[in-house]
Amino acid sequence: MLEIITFPHPTLRHKSKPITKVDAELKQIVADMFEAMYQAKGIGLAANQVNLPLQLFVINTTGKKDSGEEQVFINPVLSAAKGAADADEGCLSLPGVGGIVSRPETIHVSAYDLQGNPIEMTAKGLLGRAIQHEFDHLQGVMFIDRLSDSEKRLIQEEVETFELDFEARRKAGSIPSNEQIAAHLKDFETRYCS
Ligand code: ZN
Repeated sequence: MLEIITFPHPTLRHKSKPITKVDAELKQIVADMFEAMYQAKGIGLAANQVNLPLQLFVINTTGKKDSGEEQVFINPVLSAAKGAADADEGCLSLPGVGGIVSRPETIHVSAYDLQGNPIEMTAKGLLGRAIQHEFDHLQGVMFIDRLSDSEKRLIQEEVETFELDFEARRKAGSIPSNEQIAAHLKDFETRYCS
């Protein structure tokens, strides 16, 4: 079972690299990402949320294993943003925290699926928002960065609790050092991005 890392784990701020190779291990990682996402009751999960530096995210807008469509986006590029919409967002890396995020209503995404087929899709509504939220993760951006100042104040205390908890877990030895995390990311970049 893949562990979903929580804020402020440094990998959540790491800028992901394009994937140049898909192998059996990466396919298994994608399957495990869907499992972790369903367990956590989410509708999308980006690779850096499972401590991987790869341009990859998965989405199933139903959040349920046996319904909807499982979509895998590799090396996504967004374009043609249109309109604006406000909606409540949350994140599996900040469980229990939510806020209103303003985003373009419609976007176009170009990407590849797990079989290497190109994806060209215009998305809006929940799917369009999920794609933008997960794409942000790959750039090291989290939804809390996009909140208005008044929305930020509402969640400030909860966010600080996550920071204190992270420090406590690191002191207790259950979170690796920044150097160990960087070495782990480098290893995956060497294997999948060169
Ligand atoms: Zn998220």
